[in-house]
Amino acid sequence: MYWEKEVETMSQDRLEALQLTRLKETLKRAKESPYYEKVFDEIGFDPDKVDSLKDMENIPFTTKEDLREHWPYGFLAVSRDELVRMHSSSGTTGRATVVFHTAKDIEGWTNLVARSMYMTGMRKTDVFQNMMTYGLFTGGLGFHYGAEKIGALVIPAGAGNSKRQIQLMRDFGTTAVHIIPSYAFHLSDVFKEVNLDPERDIKVRIAFLGAEPHSEKMREKIEEIYGFKAYNSYGLSEMNGPGVAFECACQDGMHIWEDNFLVEIIDPDTLKPVPDGEEGELVLTTLVREGMPLLRYRTKDLTRIIPGPCECGRTHKRIGRIKGRTDDMMILKGVNIFPVQIEKKLMEIPGVGTNFLIVLEKEGFNDKMIVKVEVQKEFFSGNLMQLETLRHHIAEELKGDILITPKVELVEAGGLPKSEGKAVRVIDNRKD
Ligand code: ADP
Ligand code: ZN
Repeated sequence: MYWEKEVETMSQDRLEALQLTRLKETLKRAKESPYYEKVFDEIGFDPDKVDSLKDMENIPFTTKEDLREHWPYGFLAVSRDELVRMHSSSGTTGRATVVFHTAKDIEGWTNLVARSMYMTGMRKTDVFQNMMTYGLFTGGLGFHYGAEKIGALVIPAGAGNSKRQIQLMRDFGTTAVHIIPSYAFHLSDVFKEVNLDPERDIKVRIAFLGAEPHSEKMREKIEEIYGFKAYNSYGLSEMNGPGVAFECACQDGMHIWEDNFLVEIIDPDTLKPVPDGEEGELVLTTLVREGMPLLRYRTKDLTRIIPGPCECGRTHKRIGRIKGRTDDMMILKGVNIFPVQIEKKLMEIPGVGTNFLIVLEKEGFNDKMIVKVEVQKEFFSGNLMQLETLRHHIAEELKGDILITPKVELVEAGGLPKSEGKAVRVIDNRKD
């Protein structure tokens, strides 16, 4: 059983007491690393004097840049022979960062993923196909270990090779999958190509969608295409990988595992905490990790705490969908825009296909946004007027939401570049 009832439904008071005990141990361990030893020294911080979670406010934030500067071993809190695994980030926003684990760390991470999957209804009777890259990326091995722990039959398919993915699903009766949302869309196009219907011809009942921002609308569309339930899975390599926050069967926000992570949401400009319910940057502290404890790590991911209890009975706080990273924000004519806002709007428009790309250009002194949108093939075989009407409609709809009028270009389904990993949504040519 991976319903760890005792810890998952613990009262907030008891949870905080547990966090404090674990935090004290973490701080002592962190002091063993060259990086935190120096930081503690500089600010005169004594881990032995900590007696409240509030004391954390005295510790400076840790950033991705700090990890890069002290690459590769500067954050290690144990000797190298204690380590059994290394992973790295995908390098979406620059040089990838590395994280090291002891055997106990891997066990802890595995339990978190098992607990998360179990919460959605996955069981040992399921056949689980993991369509994530195996290797340094955490989405492959992280889920693999979690699913094996539950006792499911795991198909380590890895990413890409869509026709083979479909074949595996059919041959072995796959019932649960782990898939990047943009790839789920692409795969549905391949189903069409081979004259199969994802709803009718496969048995998948549960999907874990993770690794990149996606709107509620996109989830709904994917659920509709495949006829399965899709659950949002959030994690980052710096905090192990998947299994940081995960949706329960209620599909209303992701429980963030507070027995393993101390959660703060801050205003990314003032660095002050924001009240529950308000959007800000997620900051996390590991509470049980041995190999590489991280304190007040700025994830750059924007989200909010969803106030109030969850119907499932779990007490761990819930976070809302990730809006994007602070780095993803585009500023055009003084308006802040996130790619996921555009995705959400596009998903609501009938006729729009499964892929899009935002290109930013300089036009004189102004910035220009071009939104390339894949549309269903039928539109290209129909009359030109129909295509033009759709193009105009998309531009109007987007303007209503993001307040500027982008140039919209329609592309036949399959015409835009696709990625087997995280989708590249924005190409910024303004700096050239
Ligand atoms: P990188 O930071 O280089 O992309 P990771 O593989 O560690 O490397 O990716 C973690 C990041 O992926 C998170 O910080 C977040 O921005 C994004 N991410 C992961 N899961 C989700 C999710 N469910 N929704 C939105 N974004 C996600
Ligand atoms: Zn819940």
